[in-house]
Amino acid sequence: MIRVERLVHRYGEATAVDGVNLTLPDGEYVVLAGPNGSGKTTLVRHLNALLSPDEGRVLVNGTEAAENPVAARTAVGMTFQDPRDGFVAATVGADVAFGPENLGLAHEEIDRRVRHALDAVNMQGRADDRVDALSGGEQMRVAIAGALAMEPDHLILDEPFAGLDWPARREVFERLRALARDGTAVLVVTHDLRDHIDAADRVLVLSAGEIAVDAPPEQARDRLAEFDVRPP
Ligand code: ADP
Ligand code: MG
Repeated sequence: MIRVERLVHRYGEATAVDGVNLTLPDGEYVVLAGPNGSGKTTLVRHLNALLSPDEGRVLVNGTEAAENPVAARTAVGMTFQDPRDGFVAATVGADVAFGPENLGLAHEEIDRRVRHALDAVNMQGRADDRVDALSGGEQMRVAIAGALAMEPDHLILDEPFAGLDWPARREVFERLRALARDGTAVLVVTHDLRDHIDAADRVLVLSAGEIAVDAPPEQARDRLAEFDVRPP
């Protein structure tokens, strides 16, 4: 479980996250929407200690993320808005294996995780492909596989569907739903709610750094237009 308490993040004089309180329980599938510049990326980067709070705190499984970034990053998997920001190796297989290797797992376990993660995003048989030669959608799927291979308690995806075609969106989406059913907390950041809103357990809308809506989809739906988020 992740708890965000009165979180404030400033870039110089500008406040990007302005007193956010939030709980992300295990097994919940949550969608975080909001217009460009509303603070979504800044907020989620706190959840695995890529940023540290100016005020407030983030607790991951009860431990303060800023005080134990390694624990936070082990428990919270993240994919970036631009998947290339997260790649660490030249080939698909090496990139997906990198995280599990750093956990010090046995070779057979690493191989199992890499295979399973690539299957999940429909990139099986592509382990030797160069990541820089992939399409944008394929790169996003590899980034998601890299996060899945860590088998984190929480998975945060920043705009994962940008650049994915319809079948790929469907596959990734089904996979994320299945993970949530199995107990992983899934937080999907998106400005495009078309195929998510009804499947989400909860919809959050961020507006100027504040949580403006935190409600089940049927209640959130009516309020999306107010916040410049396109209803489906
Ligand atoms: P979103 O992901 O919702 O588009 P961001 O978290 O990227 O929002 O940005 C929130 C606000 O913070 C915006 O006004 C943006 O211009 C500003 N911002 C984001 N990153 C930086 C940065 N590295 N330096 C200064 N300002 C930033
Ligand atoms: Mg963003």
